[in-house]
Amino acid sequence: MPEAPKDSLYSVVEENKKKILQFIEEVTSNADEVQKRVLAEILSRNAHVEWLKRHGLNGQTERETFKKIMPVTTYEDIQPDVNRIANGDKSQIICSQTISEFLTSSGTSGGERKLMPTTEEELGRRSLLYSLLMPVMSQFVPGLEKGKGMYFLFIKSESKTPSGLVARPVLTSYYKSSHFKNRSFDPYTNYTSPNETILCPDSYQSMYSQMLCGLCLNKEVLRVGAVFASGFIRAIRFLEKHWSILCNDIRNGTLNPQITDQSVREAVMKILKPDPKLAEFIEKECGRDSWQGIIKRLWPNTKYIDVIVTGTMSQYIPTLDYYSNGLPLVCTMYASSECFFGVNLNPLCKPSEVAYTLIPTLGYFEFLPVHRNNGVTNCISMPKSLNEKEQQELVDLADVKLGQEYELVVTTYAGLYRYRVGDVLRVAGFKNKAPQFNFICRKNVILSIDSDKTDEVELQNAVKNAVSHLVPFDAQVTDYTSYADTTTIPGHYVLFWELSLNGSNPPVPPSVFEDCCLTIEESLNSVYRQGRVSDKSIGPLEIKIVEAGTFDKLMDYAISLGASINQYKTPRCVKFAPIVELLSSRVVSNYFSPKCPKWVSGHKPWNVSVN
Ligand code: AMP
Repeated sequence: MPEAPKDSLYSVVEENKKKILQFIEEVTSNADEVQKRVLAEILSRNAHVEWLKRHGLNGQTERETFKKIMPVTTYEDIQPDVNRIANGDKSQIICSQTISEFLTSSGTSGGERKLMPTTEEELGRRSLLYSLLMPVMSQFVPGLEKGKGMYFLFIKSESKTPSGLVARPVLTSYYKSSHFKNRSFDPYTNYTSPNETILCPDSYQSMYSQMLCGLCLNKEVLRVGAVFASGFIRAIRFLEKHWSILCNDIRNGTLNPQITDQSVREAVMKILKPDPKLAEFIEKECGRDSWQGIIKRLWPNTKYIDVIVTGTMSQYIPTLDYYSNGLPLVCTMYASSECFFGVNLNPLCKPSEVAYTLIPTLGYFEFLPVHRNNGVTNCISMPKSLNEKEQQELVDLADVKLGQEYELVVTTYAGLYRYRVGDVLRVAGFKNKAPQFNFICRKNVILSIDSDKTDEVELQNAVKNAVSHLVPFDAQVTDYTSYADTTTIPGHYVLFWELSLNGSNPPVPPSVFEDCCLTIEESLNSVYRQGRVSDKSIGPLEIKIVEAGTFDKLMDYAISLGASINQYKTPRCVKFAPIVELLSSRVVSNYFSPKCPKWVSGHKPWNVSVN
């Protein structure tokens, strides 16, 4: 009996897939026309908003006028207006539509998450981008509609502005929206995790119940994933710690009493049935000495891992390869709190070749050419504000040049105008007339483990605060660098310190270096501290003391590789394996942060946590 409706469902899905692929063809073939229309639409709808009037646009909607008159902006430029909206000013400041909530970006300003205004309508654009993913994927991997996706998806805590607007991360906003919760059945969004498990605010209960459902349905799973690689690895780590109790539940069909959320219990109990054979199988696999290939062993029909491994997430590729025995790693999309950007039209390509095609209907995109001058840290510095000439250098989506690197600048329907996102992209090719971009890096960011983004200035300030602990011992840090160590799960920040010690003073006790570790953590931004405290996605910070003369050796090595002796500056972050090895071979002692830094849920000025 179920056959007939299934068939008709699949034909609807097929029809829909064709339409979506056709949509991609159309918008990429007419990229420039679409961009022109999008900009005109944004400007005419918002002709009367304060921001555009303030800059003298006077209702004009032509691209040339817009580019000539409107300044390129950063968060600091819009912050006063963001604060007005947060405090309840209802006038049309940046957008003619009502600002429905703020999205809290993982990018920070003054140590706090940035707040990105958004509207109800933007949810539709985000849903549109999601709807493109599976039709694209199914061109390369057939049969995905016949099984499920095991995705570890989570919500995070949210706060309210003084005027009552919610502020939360973009994915939390999306998962809580009716677009996600009430999505009609579609074989492509058929996940092993019931909505209730994704929407559970307690991270242990959410992870436990999602893992349990994924294990119960292991044969049906055709693809696995999370948003970022770090999140998926965290799920595997959770399994390493909890497989025995998970197996108990599967064997007996009973649910761990630590799962106290009633809606989660009910949703899981619809899936959980006593299955001693499955429990025995999982125990045998998890009990083996080696966890190599564990994903393929426990979920034998998995065809690929869907996680972002571009940008700093590429540091997790070896770990994922180990756990999966080399299953394809698929990066499907590129998005942010400011705007959703694009999709990977060739999802089975190697991670190093991933290129995202920006979808021209999502916003108006411009590109600021990047001229690299720093090859050591792979971190690109860009000036904060641009002079008039630089503002004129911005090029349109259809005019970017193959091989050139650019910083992305967006104008959105929700009221950001020529806003610098902070991402550096390189043109890798074209789909019809739409460029495809490699994600190169986030400018200025030197350290990242999960969604944290630490720049050189923040690290410098944090080290400055920490070294005050050394003053009573007459010890100084003569040079330092840092490294994101992802060989531990979760990964953690490592600082290499070279000291100058005054021999006549007592030695520095270990507890003082531990205090230094903690002070650095306390000085880092709220996204880092949330990762340490709440998400547990970052491990304790480590200081490694190196022998005297180590940084001279580092300089010698950099010069032997061609660095100029006059211009040499110690890189504040190292990634290149031989350099990390050189530093590691000269470590004399190491210390970890003894406890978590302080972090409170919510945005600092308000601190009203909803969850
Ligand atoms: P957020 O504003 O916190 O949502 O973070 C958005 C940022 O995450 C982007 O601006 C990028 O720096 C990064 N990001 C998002 N998608 C990708 C991707 N596919 N590859 C690399 N980095 C990404």
